[in-house]
Amino acid sequence: MATIGFIGLGNMGGPMAANLLKAGHRVRGFDLSPAAREAFVAAGGEAAASAAEAARGAEVIVTMLPAGEHVREVWLHQGGLIEAAAAASPKPLLIDCSTIDVASARTVAETAAQAGLEMLDAPVSGGTTGAAAGTLTFMVGGSAVAFAAARPVLAQMGRTIVHTGVAGTGQAAKICNNMILAITMTGVAEGFLLADKLGLDRQTLWDITSTATARSWALTDYCPAPGPVPNAPSARDYAPGFMAALMLKDVRLSQAAAEATGTPTPLGARAAALYAKVVEAGEGARDFSVIFRWLAAQSRDSVG
Ligand code: NAD
Repeated sequence: MATIGFIGLGNMGGPMAANLLKAGHRVRGFDLSPAAREAFVAAGGEAAASAAEAARGAEVIVTMLPAGEHVREVWLHQGGLIEAAAAASPKPLLIDCSTIDVASARTVAETAAQAGLEMLDAPVSGGTTGAAAGTLTFMVGGSAVAFAAARPVLAQMGRTIVHTGVAGTGQAAKICNNMILAITMTGVAEGFLLADKLGLDRQTLWDITSTATARSWALTDYCPAPGPVPNAPSARDYAPGFMAALMLKDVRLSQAAAEATGTPTPLGARAAALYAKVVEAGEGARDFSVIFRWLAAQSRDSVG
């Protein structure tokens, strides 16, 4: 069993660290939030006074932070994780599981490499339920050697572990997936809204489309119109699930990457603009499938 430093013990990091504890590892954790630290200690973890202290003596260091700015701050600033890890012997393996912009992921990985350290970007999908159940999917960018070393640890927090290529490609996989998802969810919401207006029964439309060419996960497993999928967030007043505000963050990351690479993604841009309106309307903490209810409250002229 390993000694693991875990920084960022929030909605995702908390249960992920708890699964590492359950697997028998010694886990030292740090979070700015006292409540997150207390929950981690209650799960059997050792709270540290700083990120660098959590990393001391660790064979593996994991971060699960909100966004690129937090990841750059924790890894790169003076007295940060890369400095602490570079001074250690043997050198620990570094894993960032946050969903962040590709440029920040590559900057941090390059700085780690210059310090003689292996670093992986390993964002996840599966949400808080997957984090608690240990069934996350990890999309992992970095060297094959680092991937092989990280795999057993990641397998204690997830079920599907995919090596996506060089540093940054884990984040690329995550934002491409979520851009497609934002677009398909919007499309499914539009289809079911139009069916309502045309007097077509939702269940009938679902029975047809779930086995026809319109089929997608957003439709079959997560139908945003209440009714056809009894355990979808739409059946429980859009309690998340995956919050609309987080989807907006991810689809915006996709647009930053599209801008940086000159990639035409007109539907991704439209999905980002629509999710911004959903969040502005106060629905950011609802599941992202709430776009159906939001759209149903708009006029054709107001959203185009
Ligand atoms: P969260 O806000 O619940 O947790 C983030 C934690 O990081 C907080 O507890 C915060 O106090 C801590 N933190 C921030 N700055 C810090 C610092 N400098 N040092 C130490 N701790 C610091 O967020 P979350 O839902 O756990 O999401 C974490 C990441 O996972 C995000 O990038 C998110 O996009 C991604 N993600 C979330 C979900 C989900 O369903 N929640 C699903 C997949 C991926």
